[in-house]
Amino acid sequence: MVDTISQNPVLIVGCGLSGLTVALEVAKYKKVKLLTKGDPTISATAWAQGGIVHLTKDEESIKTHVQDTITAGDGLVDHEVLEFIARSGYKATEWLINHGVVFSKDKKLNQLHLVLEGGHSVPRIAHAGDATGRAILDVLIKKALTHPNITILKNTFVVDLVENQHLTKLGHDNNIYGVYALNTISNEVSAIPASHVVLATGGIGKVYQYTSNPPTATGDGIALAWRSGCKVANLEFMQFHPTCLFHAGERSFLISEALRGAGATLEHKNGERFMTKYDSRKELAPRDVVARSIDFEMKKHGIEHVYLNAKLLKKDYIVEHFPTIHGKCKRLGIDITKDRIPVIPAAHYSCGGVLTRINGQTTIQNLYAIGETACTGLHGANRLASNSLLECVVTGLTASKSIVESKFNHNQRIRQYQVSKPFHGEDDAIEIFNSWNELRTIMSSYVGIVRSTGRLNKALKRIRLLNEEVRELSQKYHPNKDLLEVRNLVICAELITKSALKRKESRGLHFNKDHQTKLANALPTVIRSNSVI
Ligand SMILES: Cc1cc2nc3c(=O)[nH]c(=O)nc-3n(C[C@H](O)[C@H](O)[C@H](O)COP(=O)(O)OP(=O)(O)OC[C@H]3O[C@@H](n4cnc5c(N)ncnc54)[C@H](O)[C@@H]3O)c2cc1C
Repeated sequence: MVDTISQNPVLIVGCGLSGLTVALEVAKYKKVKLLTKGDPTISATAWAQGGIVHLTKDEESIKTHVQDTITAGDGLVDHEVLEFIARSGYKATEWLINHGVVFSKDKKLNQLHLVLEGGHSVPRIAHAGDATGRAILDVLIKKALTHPNITILKNTFVVDLVENQHLTKLGHDNNIYGVYALNTISNEVSAIPASHVVLATGGIGKVYQYTSNPPTATGDGIALAWRSGCKVANLEFMQFHPTCLFHAGERSFLISEALRGAGATLEHKNGERFMTKYDSRKELAPRDVVARSIDFEMKKHGIEHVYLNAKLLKKDYIVEHFPTIHGKCKRLGIDITKDRIPVIPAAHYSCGGVLTRINGQTTIQNLYAIGETACTGLHGANRLASNSLLECVVTGLTASKSIVESKFNHNQRIRQYQVSKPFHGEDDAIEIFNSWNELRTIMSSYVGIVRSTGRLNKALKRIRLLNEEVRELSQKYHPNKDLLEVRNLVICAELITKSALKRKESRGLHFNKDHQTKLANALPTVIRSNSVI
């Protein structure tokens, strides 16, 4: 049994930009525990390259950003949320700079160097070279590590949220009392009481075979919130990046749009270009159009990937402007100055997640979800580039305010975690690996970029079966990282597929061959939690 103290800490699950923003703000007033399932330096935030939307208080700056976000979101953006984020947007880069993040400067003008990205009508992306996320994370983690009110617990995997049923004396159904967490080194599960729990666990890219996401992106926060009774929204809107390297040993390496911008072309094995058939902008059409065209071609010809040809570019130019891509491919045996690059679209960003208010509050009183885990409605049916880091900071600041102002705390005793068997053997490890493999194959084949009702139904049937099997394994064995991640991914896969089936139209990132037109009335897809999915 765990005795709680009257001043339980605020518990933040996730060490990316959203979790760190809340941690550093709340720690001004309260004790914070910041958990991460692995090393705090591994997250989508760390991998973010392009940058973050920079806004000022100027009306024109706000108005054009609102318009660009609405256009990208294809009729589903929540206007109230967008207006709030756009108006508070100036705080994001200001907050980061005040913490010591160094963005690239326009030396002549002595101001932030702002660049243009797809979908933006003006240059408004602040960046730190081509490694913006890393620059942000390094600074904020250092701050958190030395903050007297913050304790960082690494290798601490949140298994479940502590609900009313886990208490020795019944409390309230609409509260969370802390978390059960697995120490992935000692393999022990313990209860950590908390006054508030913030889910900042990032995205769900790992549900697909090819993804730009880091290994941490297994949808844990969404599955945890769902199991505890929260609503989820818009999970059918998965953004795919058109060109990820196709390689057996490397499934998460993005081949930047900039290479296409410089003149690289997409083609088949026989050298035939195909983007000319789909869009007058050819290889430079919007991401979703290029990704969908590649998917069409792959399905039509029954092929595993297409090629990106950069051979026409000058060798010196490639080496100078694309050193990372050139170096990485070379190490994998592909000289991009001489060889074509095998590429495939990859899951990149989830526009959907746990349904929250603008301050991150879920339908459970003291449970918050922020960053990519949440669905505030900002992105609608498609995300405008660089809006995600902006959302992490703005909603992070708003959530902190709400938590700091909340008086909620508890003095409950939490039951020990029920562990069935000590550990599983080699055969079970293989079973877990196989389940994950099967899941990724199903999702990539049937719930990918181009969908059909028949294929979605097929996927749902198989995912439900997998869900059963994984649930049995989970009940039988002591939790371990792989098993927990598969359990969460299977739940997310089912939610994505159900959401896709619920949408009887094609809009934004969701394309169904059997419902190709857009309905007049655009509504978000909300799935209510129940015990069996
Ligand atoms: C390659 C790439 C490039 C991108 N480029 C940009 C860009 O230029 N601009 C932009 O705006 N967006 C970009 N994005 C998207 C953006 O980076 C993410 O949406 C954003 O960083 C998400 O931040 P987060 O705090 O929500 O989650 P993350 O940064 O992913 O952090 C998640 C944290 O949760 C922890 N965690 C997860 N599950 C558990 C658990 N069960 N228990 C304990 N801890 C857990 C992880 O260990 C990690 O610390 C990019 C994404 C990728 C993958």
